[in-house]
Amino acid sequence: MTYLYEKAVTPKSGLRLHLNENTGGCSPAVLDALRGITAEAVAFYPDYSEAIGAAAWRLGVPPSHLLLTNGLDEGILAACLVAMRSARRNPAEAIVVVPAFDMQASCAETAGAKVVEVPLRDDFAFPTDEVIAAVKPITRIIFITSPNNPTGISAPPDGILRIAAAAPQAIVFVDEAYADFSGSSLIGDPALAAHPNIIVGRTFAKAYGLAALRCGALVGALEKLEAIRRALPPYSVNLAAAVALPAALRDRAYYEWYLEQVRESKRLLYATLDRLAVPYWQSDANFVLARFGDRAADVCSLLAARGIYVRDRSKNHGCAGCVRITAGIVEHTRRCANALEEVLCAVR
Ligand SMILES: *Cc1c(COP(=O)(O)O)cnc(C)c1O
Repeated sequence: MTYLYEKAVTPKSGLRLHLNENTGGCSPAVLDALRGITAEAVAFYPDYSEAIGAAAWRLGVPPSHLLLTNGLDEGILAACLVAMRSARRNPAEAIVVVPAFDMQASCAETAGAKVVEVPLRDDFAFPTDEVIAAVKPITRIIFITSPNNPTGISAPPDGILRIAAAAPQAIVFVDEAYADFSGSSLIGDPALAAHPNIIVGRTFAKAYGLAALRCGALVGALEKLEAIRRALPPYSVNLAAAVALPAALRDRAYYEWYLEQVRESKRLLYATLDRLAVPYWQSDANFVLARFGDRAADVCSLLAARGIYVRDRSKNHGCAGCVRITAGIVEHTRRCANALEEVLCAVR
């Protein structure tokens, strides 16, 4: 089996509810900061001290415990390279709890690991014991996504810590791309000090609306982080991201406003899906996964015909008939909810 990231067909216009992006765009303060970039600054290699300081302050860690990356994607790739480094001529395995973000298995395989998939339990409960049972001496990295994409369900912190204790030889990579929306994170958990093999990955793409600028962060113990730093190109985060990040992090009002829009949007989606008798899962993230069954493909194409793009996740493990809908600005969600009502009447 070969793993790869399947890029979604991206329409030029219409309502994008298929990639969990911030549907309201970034804070206006970010655009102001970008406009302030000078010709000289563009000509120089970027300095990251302000961006690192801002991110570390925001996440509540010392700057030395944080690495900025060109999107969380780069952090996933670098962690895989480092995890597999000591395994050059030996067999190595990566455990991925599935369904999961495609890049995890794709990067682990590219770095030389055999990917071992551990599925979520029925109803997407987190399989702590199954992951621990899958750990071997050759397990080099374990990917856990919390809240999960595409289910929106968080993994229990004590389960993650038990896994980290059971696999001290492996990097336990906790992908927290959606932690802004759940409001809970392993970062700052005092138990983390006992588990230097845990690396937490964050992104500023989703809640802060910086997806196109590519900016993420890895947080973890010094030694692991230093190894990953060596794998990263020294200037992989570009000037635009370095300038945008402090501006985005300073505008707390915009961030809090957006999080409230997302919460309200999820309530609206739940109410609509309840009315339409479509099962769904309560989500800790900025999207909702709903099971339309046989109608999933039709629902997606009929919504697309109305200029509304959602993601058919049927091919994901355990997600047959499931569609993932981004919950962003309430007004956007309302358009989607109204269209869903029409579309479901048409395909019933
Ligand atoms: C979006 C996403 C990422 C990638 O974040 P970038 O910063 O855009 O690279 C990583 N993990 C998960 C689970 C995601 O959904």
